[in-house]
Amino acid sequence: MEHPENDDKYKGLKVNQGVSEMPTVNPYMTKRVRRRQYTPAEFVEGILKGNITVLSQAVTLVESSRHDHQQVAQEIIEKCLPHAGKSVRVGITGVPGAGKSTSIDVFGLHLLKQGHKLAVLAIDPSSERSKGSILGDKTRMEQLSREKNAFIRPSPSAGSLGGVARKTRETIVLCEAAGFDTVFVETVGVGQSETAVHSMVDFFLLIQLAGTGDELQGIKRGIMEMADGIIINKADGDNIEKAKLAAAQFRNALHLFPPTESGWFPKVLTYSGYYNIGIKEIWDMVDEYIRFTKKNGYFDYKRNEQAKYWMYESINDTLRDTFYHNPAVEEMLAYTEKQVLQNEISSFVAAKRMMDLFLADISKKG
Ligand code: GDP
Repeated sequence: MEHPENDDKYKGLKVNQGVSEMPTVNPYMTKRVRRRQYTPAEFVEGILKGNITVLSQAVTLVESSRHDHQQVAQEIIEKCLPHAGKSVRVGITGVPGAGKSTSIDVFGLHLLKQGHKLAVLAIDPSSERSKGSILGDKTRMEQLSREKNAFIRPSPSAGSLGGVARKTRETIVLCEAAGFDTVFVETVGVGQSETAVHSMVDFFLLIQLAGTGDELQGIKRGIMEMADGIIINKADGDNIEKAKLAAAQFRNALHLFPPTESGWFPKVLTYSGYYNIGIKEIWDMVDEYIRFTKKNGYFDYKRNEQAKYWMYESINDTLRDTFYHNPAVEEMLAYTEKQVLQNEISSFVAAKRMMDLFLADISKKG
């Protein structure tokens, strides 16, 4: 038979009409399913169990500027604090293009292989202006972002550098309570943000590149002085010799700096993030530093100093916020500024008037 499918015995296989096309959007999804809001106790319980979804939602509350969110966030942080503090916190900085994301990817995999759990956070001063974060983005750390023992969170974007840094510091507490034993805080090496990162980490790693000519040009002395380790990336191919030369120059420069408070002499190493060369040596250095500073007491001393620093930072933040959001201040500030600009009163008199106004207003309410 020429067309066997026409035979009666295949009748059941006859295809009539095609089914109508499926809608492209799942109709059940058009109604937005609202997530149930956890109670603070549920948040804490989830975090302590290492539940990443709960941790992420708690971090969102920490980052929120809404008053009710902040209240819940503070309650969660307070309950997590006794379970925090046990991680090794490492600050990582370097100019854009130095290889931060490539390096964090391989550093992270190296640590995970050793059985660690890693959280990668970021402080990105540009994210407020550009409304998009260039750091800590999952897509930048391709391999790490697929690992279940890695938690990557982009920089909080709202507010001043101080505000952003505070949120990152609070996020460290939540990550530690969730069982992350290593925390990276990444930042771009271009401005003020290094100081903020330095004030919340145990070890500060500066990624550098070998350039041409004078290697030390363009590097802010202050940033170099903060570094516990300087690592020169892209020491591969034709670049190996240049990287070695740069390392020697950095070592010489470091000798000119005053001795560090920790008693540790900063090390300079070369490596290649891309080709995975010299990674183990970098983490051996970090381990050695932690052992060294735990033994001489500097580790705990620095953590205490940092806690003190953040207390005063918080007070300053709150004072500033309360001042600028005070209705009496808001009403008079623009006018007073105009008076200063027109040389009618001096800056100092203007400031004193505003302060008096503020203090009178709060004592009236108090
Ligand atoms: P970031 O801006 O500091 O995060 O830098 P990236 O990690 O995005 O790296 C910038 C560029 O340098 C990318 O094109 C990387 O592929 C390249 N790169 C990073 N690490 C190395 C390395 O070890 N060797 C070489 N040759 N190139 C690298």
